[in-house]
Amino acid sequence: MLRVGINGYGTIGKRVADAVRTQPDMEVAGVAKVSPDYVALGAAEAEYPLYAVDEDRTDGFHEAGIDLAGTVDDLVADSDIVVDATPSGIGAQNRPLYERHDTPALFQGGEDATIAEVSFNARANYDEATDADYVRVVSCNTTGLSRLVSPIHESYGIEKVRTTLVRRGGDPSQTGRGPINDALPDPVSIPSHHGPDVQTVFPELDIDTIGLKVPTTMMHVHAVNITLEEAPDDVAEIRDRLREENRLLMIPDYAGIDGAGTLKDLALDAGRPRGDIWENCIWEESITLEGRDLYCMQAIHQESDVVPENIDAIRSVTGLLNGPESRALTNETLGIGLSRLDNSEERAVDRQTAD
Ligand code: NAD
Repeated sequence: MLRVGINGYGTIGKRVADAVRTQPDMEVAGVAKVSPDYVALGAAEAEYPLYAVDEDRTDGFHEAGIDLAGTVDDLVADSDIVVDATPSGIGAQNRPLYERHDTPALFQGGEDATIAEVSFNARANYDEATDADYVRVVSCNTTGLSRLVSPIHESYGIEKVRTTLVRRGGDPSQTGRGPINDALPDPVSIPSHHGPDVQTVFPELDIDTIGLKVPTTMMHVHAVNITLEEAPDDVAEIRDRLREENRLLMIPDYAGIDGAGTLKDLALDAGRPRGDIWENCIWEESITLEGRDLYCMQAIHQESDVVPENIDAIRSVTGLLNGPESRALTNETLGIGLSRLDNSEERAVDRQTAD
């Protein structure tokens, strides 16, 4: 069993810890926390060994009745690999800690690309992270775009990508974020940083992105236009091609899903942990072809789409499995793919039989 340490146990870290726990080939060595808050209490209840980030703050944990297994230094020493899910910029400060222990580490998308040897997306460049010591799992938006671009690029070639990203103002727990009553060009300059970030995964890709920020905590929504090198005769072929991808969830028109609110409701109804949606959610009807121009709209759950990518990155770095094997195992263990939205003939027959 591979021992995975989680340094930074917030929105991403706690989800990655739970995902590691469901894998048959890895276990959580422990999680590092700064303060004994409700999230630390949850980690203790989940029986994750807890390590203090700051030696001077261990008393606070003891006062809250939380036993500590040691400090973050001990955690790194006891881990085969560390997932650093600390806030943007802290990962760069932590890298010397991992180097000191000769422990490989994954960083997250808030870090600069220069922090690691590879910017990683499981579908696009799994093999590039194999044997790397430091890997950056790209951000939620870059993950969402990379998953979509990969199969399109392979099947039709891409001349140019243009995407407008309507981004959530903050995560539900980020009570101080906004805007609370506006739609902000963010950044005002074009392109936004997202295009160059996608190019850390696809260096040759011609892509321009425009970013806005709106008052929601639910999901990001992307309006995508891809000029193909060679378009198929029928847009149905593209829909079928995208449907083959496990981490692209097609939203059929009849499902009545009109936005991120209904998507989150669907995820909660389906019993998804924390209402998470690990897949890109593509509105099937939005997939449109005008000459060589492909259009579509997709929603991206910022809190969770990078979680399966972290699991696959752990396997790539440590050489546990190859890309297709790892993605398949991650998909199976997490339960990726909402079968109730599957309108294939086979599934329709199943549904009728159930009736
Ligand atoms: P978060 O603030 O929810 O969690 C970060 C955790 O790290 C907090 O518990 C914080 O107390 C802790 N922390 C702070 N300093 C620390 C230190 N020195 N050592 C250990 N822990 C420390 O942040 P998040 O949203 O989980 O983001 C983490 C990373 O993931 C960032 O790089 C971010 O850009 C990236 N990311 C975030 C999202 C998202 O939407 N939330 C999506 C994709 C990627």
